[in-house]
Amino acid sequence: MRRVRIGHSWPGFPRIDRLPASAYIAAMAVREILILPDKRLRKASEPVKKVDAGIRKLIEDMFETMYDAPGIGLAAVQIGTPKRVVTLDLAKKEEPKNPQVFINPEVVWCSDEQSIYEEGCLSIPETYSEVERPARVKVKYLDTDGTPREIEVAGLLSTCLQHEVDHTNGVLFIDHLSRLKRDRIVKKFTKAAKRAG
Ligand SMILES: [Zn+2]
Repeated sequence: MRRVRIGHSWPGFPRIDRLPASAYIAAMAVREILILPDKRLRKASEPVKKVDAGIRKLIEDMFETMYDAPGIGLAAVQIGTPKRVVTLDLAKKEEPKNPQVFINPEVVWCSDEQSIYEEGCLSIPETYSEVERPARVKVKYLDTDGTPREIEVAGLLSTCLQHEVDHTNGVLFIDHLSRLKRDRIVKKFTKAAKRAG
């Protein structure tokens, strides 16, 4: 069993340096990440009908927000835009960036073999738990040109993609835990939200 924290950066991962300022970069925005128990996280997202300028701007904002957090995966619903768009970058700090985009991702096949990773989530900060999921999945999606694609993924990419596809369906990683563990986490975040007013 491999234990890797997902959702947040690798342990000790520094914040990624901002790119040099330009009009293009300045147009991107770090958006606010919704935090549990925000009800918007529980709504299923709408499919993207057309990959247009609005969707490309959304993707830029998602990367800006994800790298700023820092995190390795984000679904659009986490920044309050309920569209079926997922961004990932699993590159380690010594590796070049590897931004990946999945539009309308859908799991079309799962292996019987399972794997366990310790997961986290930018919408459930500082909370990590082991989650068992299919070790390999096939995912259908559109790329940023709107071209249909299908990939088979394994390992950390498989787990991260399943975690993000769950978000597009209003599902959080804590839903894969025992009710006792899940209730404890929800209670803690509900209290914190009340305290924050
Ligand atoms: Zn998440």
